[in-house]
Amino acid sequence: MQGIIVKGIAGFYYVKVDEEIYECKARGKFRHNELSPLVGDKVEFDLQNGKGFIKDILPRTCELIRPAIANVSQAIIVFAVKNPDFNTDLLNKFLMQCEANGLNVIICFNKIDLISKEELEEKISFINSIGYKVICSRAKQGEGIEEIKRQLQNNITVLCGPSGVGKSTILNSILGRMAMKTGDISERLKRGKHTTRHCELIEMEGGYIADSPGFSSLDIGYIKKEDLQNYFPEFREYKDNCKFSTCIHNKEPGCAVKEAVLNNNINKNRYDFYVKTLEEIQSRREWK
Ligand code: GDP
Ligand code: ZN
Repeated sequence: MQGIIVKGIAGFYYVKVDEEIYECKARGKFRHNELSPLVGDKVEFDLQNGKGFIKDILPRTCELIRPAIANVSQAIIVFAVKNPDFNTDLLNKFLMQCEANGLNVIICFNKIDLISKEELEEKISFINSIGYKVICSRAKQGEGIEEIKRQLQNNITVLCGPSGVGKSTILNSILGRMAMKTGDISERLKRGKHTTRHCELIEMEGGYIADSPGFSSLDIGYIKKEDLQNYFPEFREYKDNCKFSTCIHNKEPGCAVKEAVLNNNINKNRYDFYVKTLEEIQSRREWK
């Protein structure tokens, strides 16, 4: 049979097939291959006397480390427009991380009760200039939650973003569970380590959502300087026109990306962030 792992606890995997959940163990061969099943994995399993044995893991589209989930297709990046203050560089980092994992991205601006309409418009137009979809919410008041839910269909979705922006408030509303106090999530994650409780996928609106937020740490260590440009989707329509096919859009002459920045077709803030990150990657390489 074939199904999707929605939960893993202490060596048991809970595999969903249609409306049924089967408790499964993994066969020993996974340990030899250093491949262990992850929540989100599509698996092939056998049933013997009511017990399930996973015999194959289907190829993954991606593999997130935190939360440990395979095949995530979409991230909703939550940022507060205020309190904590909106930080463009941090948003750019989250965007880059999601792009590097090949995720579809939606940006959620939360706490819109805290700023004026004009200030909000300015932030939305920044996101529109990059080309991402924006949802605005006042999670504490329950506003915007239905719109977020509508995005879940056919996806495995993870919520991410800095702390204090309202991720748990949003998750609790989506999942219809009682609000947990701020900090409870990280407490729960800490405890989770000891009981090897993994993130769980909850079926919702024709898709799945991870029951805890992800990507608290952002690491660019593994990104190659040639690949970085691929994580800036708004560069795509220009970069084939650069004079050199190896152009990384920094100091090269005849760079179509730089020209697009000068013509205001690419947001300068985004380009500056790209160059800053590129130089960070390059200086790291030189130190090694
Ligand atoms: P997390 O760290 O991202 O999970 O953030 P929390 O969900 O714990 O929220 C942090 C704080 O922001 C809490 O005190 C929430 O009550 C508050 N909060 C959440 N959503 C909103 C909102 O839409 N407007 C305002 N003003 N506060 C909110
Ligand atoms: Zn270029």
